[in-house]
Amino acid sequence: MKPSSKRPALLRELKNYLLFLKDYGYTEIPQQMELNLGASKETSKRVLSPSTQNKPGLLQEVREELGDCTRCRLSEGRNKIVFGSGNPNADLVFVGEGPGKDEDEQGFPFVGRAGKKLTEIIEKGMGLNREQDTYICNIVKCRPPGNRDPEADEIAACKPFLLKQLQVIRPKVIVALGKPASSTLLGRNVPITKERGTWHEFEGIKLMLTFHPAYLLRFYTLENRKAVHDDMKKVLEVLGK
Ligand code: SF4
Repeated sequence: MKPSSKRPALLRELKNYLLFLKDYGYTEIPQQMELNLGASKETSKRVLSPSTQNKPGLLQEVREELGDCTRCRLSEGRNKIVFGSGNPNADLVFVGEGPGKDEDEQGFPFVGRAGKKLTEIIEKGMGLNREQDTYICNIVKCRPPGNRDPEADEIAACKPFLLKQLQVIRPKVIVALGKPASSTLLGRNVPITKERGTWHEFEGIKLMLTFHPAYLLRFYTLENRKAVHDDMKKVLEVLGK
């Protein structure tokens, strides 16, 4: 790739970092931060990134800002806000759709049947540890009634918090689970059966699209299982695992 072709993505990433810093009250660029904008290791040290910052602390600030949220109607039927769980320093983040019944009761993402499938994919399929090697969250933090898809205004109300989570963690790879997560992150209607297994970019971070584990459980065919397995193999390659 020619250096000039990287410029729009680099500028966008720089802008996002500056907005991120502004959000968190920085008035100048902290010297100890580094930004990996595709530059060499030597030059990247001069710019900024939250990558060396206190990510658990910053994530906690995002959680506190979310508070006892009533920004959309999903607050009306929820038991618990499901913010996210896992390692804030992980290289890999999974983004799902929204909490289901079990998640709403327990306050953690992917703890029901689909969650067990996701854990199996991570631990048996990828050979990673779910709690140590990944962070998992959803595009909306409260359970949509009857497990319906979240609506556009609900996603719009909750999305700033997803963006902040991703800006704090800045993993090497994000995996979008299913159509709503893929469409939210890419800002367009994603035909997931066509586009799963393909690489995209979200704010300078590599983004893989794959099936939601609930879809996999519903259509538990060899073909679908192999598809997800192949997608995760691509993720492992990028992670160097
Ligand atoms: S879904 Fe998100 S925006 Fe809506 S009430 Fe819950 S936390 Fe707030």
